[in-house]
Amino acid sequence: MPTQTLKALSTQLKSRAISATELASDYLSRIAASDLNAFISVDPELTLAQAKAADASITSGTASALTGLPIAHKDIFVTVGWTSTAGSKMLSDYTSPFDATVVKHFRAAGMVNLGKLNCDEFAMGSSNENSFFGAVKNPWDKTAVPGGSSGGSAAAVAGGLTPAATGTDTGGSIRQPAALCGITGIKPTYGRVSRYGMIAFASSLDQGGPMAWTAEDCGLLLNVMSGFDPHDSTSISREPEDFTRALDKNLKGLKIGVPKEYFGEGLASDVEQAIRNALAEYEKLGATLVDISLPKTSLSIPVYYVIAPAEASSNLSRFDGVRYGYRAKEYTDLGDMYRKTRSEGFGDEVKRRILVGAYVLSHGYYDAYYLQAQKIRRLIAQDFQQAFTQCDVIMGPVAPTVAWGLGSKVNDPVANYLADIYTLSTSLAGLPGMSIPVGFGQGAKNTNRPVGLQLIGNYFCEAKLLNIAHQFQLATDWHQRRPADSA
Ligand code: GLN
Repeated sequence: MPTQTLKALSTQLKSRAISATELASDYLSRIAASDLNAFISVDPELTLAQAKAADASITSGTASALTGLPIAHKDIFVTVGWTSTAGSKMLSDYTSPFDATVVKHFRAAGMVNLGKLNCDEFAMGSSNENSFFGAVKNPWDKTAVPGGSSGGSAAAVAGGLTPAATGTDTGGSIRQPAALCGITGIKPTYGRVSRYGMIAFASSLDQGGPMAWTAEDCGLLLNVMSGFDPHDSTSISREPEDFTRALDKNLKGLKIGVPKEYFGEGLASDVEQAIRNALAEYEKLGATLVDISLPKTSLSIPVYYVIAPAEASSNLSRFDGVRYGYRAKEYTDLGDMYRKTRSEGFGDEVKRRILVGAYVLSHGYYDAYYLQAQKIRRLIAQDFQQAFTQCDVIMGPVAPTVAWGLGSKVNDPVANYLADIYTLSTSLAGLPGMSIPVGFGQGAKNTNRPVGLQLIGNYFCEAKLLNIAHQFQLATDWHQRRPADSA
């Protein structure tokens, strides 16, 4: 049961083969027994109360498609009841007086919250090792990282601790952990999913999205998760869509753009092999491959690592020991209190980004760094529009390698930044992107570590991406593979 899809579980709920309470209890006991460190907070009493309410609405016939199904939230989404920590000491005891819009939507749909998921501090990172609450293990190989920053989300799904999770993606944090843990995840078009109550990292890039085993499940989740929110000034007002409406369309005539910049130096051969095999599978499904170029790809790293820290330094100025969370115990005056609170409350990576951000925004450097980065950001977005005149979807790897060993890159932030090369530009352009499992590469001692294929679509083409992913999942079984001890 724990490794089933939402779709399968919902059939069992509807036929009364299982109750929402039984389902929630089963997942709660798996969470309690797990050594993955995927959850930061669980509260069985709160969860079971939600499950009981779900059972009541199933019995009374008022249930929606997702009522009674469990979900867990990345600890970036604020929730009433559970703590909302953003993986930081700064917020380690913080509870929110309101639910994030996304959390509210899932509650209204009757989904049962299993708890809050571990993540890199303020979503800064790609291995989940920057969390105040400790690293998360990859269920496929517990000596490896799960990816980040939504590492807890990906590991919890892959490890059978929840059938679905929310994630957030600023520069790859849904797609990359989904890839490294062998599950499916989609980062929607910027503005699709409300950021209200999503603890901010870089506001012009942050976007929430679903993570689950299949594209079909992600579509069901996105139906609930997305929509205009007057509380978010960058939320986009569009007619509600059924993201599962196009799943069954065949792929004959689909043009897949294959960017040459995504297959160059730095791409590990085992990852490349799995990606090429997946592309060949798409050809069998009726698609044709088109060579394209995204010439500004390499600039996405410096551009992102100017813009994201700039916005972070501004967003994180609110954590001053007065308004939210942690405050230093001893200090002499107000200035000393700010200084000690922020020195003690933030981890190294967050401090590094605040420093870089403050620097690139400072008088004298603003034009040279921040403004310049914004201009190149525009050019990166134009690259994609040029590419979409030649193809319907772009495909390539999510990450240059499979999951690396826990601890192996912690002292080398730049090595982590460089590994974001294939995901950053999509975020900078605000485009939707997803990751689906397409095979395995080789980890240490011959372990299998998953490989994810990235699908990038034009603005608001989520339904098309999910269709393209679903057709692959009908033809292959990578999304049905499970880590050895999660069955
Ligand atoms: N790895 C990138 C970073 O460290 C992306 C993180 C994210 O998408 N939240 O900033």
